[in-house]
Amino acid sequence: MDKAILDAVASGAYIMGKPVKELEAQLAEYVGVKHCLSCANGTDALTLALKAWSIGPGDAVFVPDFTFFSSAEVVPLEGATPVFVDVCEETFNIDAADLQRAVEQVLAEGRLCPKVVVAVDLFGLPADYEAIRQVADKYGLLILEDGAQGFGGSIDGKRACSFGDIATTSFFPAKPVGCYGDGGAVFTDNDEWAALIESYRVHGKGTFKYDNVRIGMNSRLDTVQAAVLQVKLKAFAEYELDAVNAAAGKYTELLKDVVDTPVIPQGFRSSWAQYTIRLKDTAQRDALQTSLKAAGIPSMVYYPKPMHLQTAFRAEPRNLCPVATSLCGRVLSLPMHPYITDEVINTVCNAIKAALK
Ligand SMILES: *Cc1c(COP(=O)(O)O)cnc(C)c1O
Repeated sequence: MDKAILDAVASGAYIMGKPVKELEAQLAEYVGVKHCLSCANGTDALTLALKAWSIGPGDAVFVPDFTFFSSAEVVPLEGATPVFVDVCEETFNIDAADLQRAVEQVLAEGRLCPKVVVAVDLFGLPADYEAIRQVADKYGLLILEDGAQGFGGSIDGKRACSFGDIATTSFFPAKPVGCYGDGGAVFTDNDEWAALIESYRVHGKGTFKYDNVRIGMNSRLDTVQAAVLQVKLKAFAEYELDAVNAAAGKYTELLKDVVDTPVIPQGFRSSWAQYTIRLKDTAQRDALQTSLKAAGIPSMVYYPKPMHLQTAFRAEPRNLCPVATSLCGRVLSLPMHPYITDEVINTVCNAIKAALK
C-alpha cells in the first residue's frame, strides 16, 4: 500500500493518472459490465446516472424509504420528485409489490411521469432484481442500482453493480471496498450513457476539455485513491469478501435463537457492509445498545429515520411506509469487518445474550 501511494505521488499525475484507467478496467471486469467510470463519490455517481438519463422536473423517481439519504437526495437536486417505497422486513430492500402500488398511484394522480427506480443493495445484500425488473418492464422504468453498500454481493454468481441499467458504488472508507478518502464509480453496458457520463464528470466536455457541450460537474477519482483501491480490490477479491461472509456465518450461528438475524435469500450473497439484527421494539433495541456501550462494544442504528420523515423531504409526496418506519425503531448494526476475530464475535454475542436475558 505504501508503495502504491508513493508511486502515485511520484508520478506527478495527480488527476486521471494511470492507476485511474487501470482501476476502471479492473472494476468493470470484476463486476462483469462493459463500462466503469470512476468519479468523486457515490452520491455524484447517482447524480451522473440521472443526468445521463436527463431526469428532471415532472419525473417521478422511486426510492426505498429505508436507505442512506444520498439515494433520494440526488433526485430533487435534478429537479425531479422522489416517491418513497416501502421495503421488505427480512431483506431491508425495496418491496417490488409496493413499488407497483406506488407507480399505479403516481399514474392515477397524473401529475408526475414514472421514470426511474433506485434499487439499493442495502447492507451488502443485492435487491430482488427479478421482481423489480418485472415491475420496471411493465411501466417502462429504468433501474438505477445504488450499490454503494453492495459491491461484491451477488445473485446466482452474477455480481452486484451489474443489475441496474446503470449501477453505482461508493468507495467511502466504511463501504465494502473503501479508499483513503472519497471515491465512487458508475457501471453500465450502454455505450451512449457511458459516453455521456464521461462528459458530465469533466464539466460536460465535448471533443476535449476546453470544448464544453453541456453543463457538467467536476467529479473525478484522485490518482492516489485509485492506487489505494487497486490494492484494496485485490485483497477484497482474494480473501476479504470470504472473510466477512465467514464472520457473518459465525454471528448468525451464535445469535439465531436470540434475535432476528439477517436473512439471505437462496442464491444471494451479501458483501456485509453491515451485519444488522432486528429487535422486538425500540425499548429493547435501545436498552441493548446501552448495555453494549457499557461493555465497550460499539454498535450503530442504520437508519434511525425513514426517508419520508426527513425534514429535507417535507415538501415531497408522503407515502406511509410502515415496514421501513418500524425497522428504523428496531434495527442495530454490530461490529463487522473482514479482520474481525472469532474471539471478538464471541464477546459481542455473549454481551447480547447477557443483555437480553
Ligand atoms: C454511502 C452511500 C451513498 C453515497 O456514497 P458517498 O460516497 O458517501 O457519496 C449512496 N447510497 C448509499 C446506500 C450509501 O450507503
